[in-house]
Amino acid sequence: MNFSFKKIRLEQIYPLRISRGLKEDCDNLFVFVEKNGLTGVGEMVPGSLTGCESADEGEKILAEFTPTIRQGASVHEIYHQARTEGIPPCVLAALDMALWDLLAKESRQPLYKLLGLAKPSAPTSVTIGVNPPEVIREQVPEMLSRTGCLNLKVKLGSPQGIDADKESYLAVLKAAEKFHVGIRIDANGGWSLEDAKQMMKWLQTRKTEYVEQPLHHDCDDQLPELFKNRALPIFVDESCRFSSDIPKWADSVDGINLKLMKCGGITEALRIVATARAFGLQTMIGCMGESLIAISAGAALGHLFDFIDLDSHLNFRNDPAEGAVLTQGIVTPPGRPGHGGRLLNDE
Ligand SMILES: [Mg+2]
Repeated sequence: MNFSFKKIRLEQIYPLRISRGLKEDCDNLFVFVEKNGLTGVGEMVPGSLTGCESADEGEKILAEFTPTIRQGASVHEIYHQARTEGIPPCVLAALDMALWDLLAKESRQPLYKLLGLAKPSAPTSVTIGVNPPEVIREQVPEMLSRTGCLNLKVKLGSPQGIDADKESYLAVLKAAEKFHVGIRIDANGGWSLEDAKQMMKWLQTRKTEYVEQPLHHDCDDQLPELFKNRALPIFVDESCRFSSDIPKWADSVDGINLKLMKCGGITEALRIVATARAFGLQTMIGCMGESLIAISAGAALGHLFDFIDLDSHLNFRNDPAEGAVLTQGIVTPPGRPGHGGRLLNDE
């Protein structure tokens, strides 16, 4: 297997503000693994929460790691070796995704079929960041009419407090009214326990389906109390990275949100879903500033999830890739072999 790398700057249409800061343009790393004339491709989005803060650093880690891979090693063996050696999750996600893509191409099957799955049936949400009402009034109709998405994820947990959250949310409801979309909330850990109790009660009668990461992940010990009399289903995101995190919170949440960049790729994603199901939890897949390479890999797993949030590619001016397409609001992987994502002008 031969590995090569490419760094591409992705420019956002709307910089995404969440409770803990602003996410702007980013250099993503694309990883290629070639064998017998076939090439698998993966993508890494750098980030402080996913263990590697730059594409250059990710490339350096993989340039050192990949020569140590034993010839003939399986995807699971390579994943195990990389985890054991402490390869950061977002770096491992790119490698693992490229290896699964190659394996599916060698098998001449779309990845979803190789994994024994059907195409996804849950429509994705599209995300509106923490914004003042005047920005919301402009962005929400533009995003919904441009994308045709059937669900809206609203970021709350404003540093200005829950009164600002309520004002923003009411602006969202009004701006989205004529689109008849489902509405979900992600507080990104921006609420205190009391804020969360109050907001969930307030949101319950205002169209919200569920709340994601209401409390900061440092306050996970308060989840059982919030869960007891919860007004809405609770999903955790930042509090759950790997399958091994699930047993701790299984009695205090309704579901988990996995992300390929956060967990280390497809191999671990499959374990997370299996573990969550074993504990009777619901599942969601999200994304973190990924182009259509990683989004297509996520879409290939889409059939496994109750809720889907694969929308970051819809917020790029210059997605360098093609792959999954939005069909009636569903991010649908194409029928070609592999995960279906490929860089434009490259293959
Ligand atoms: Mg989230």
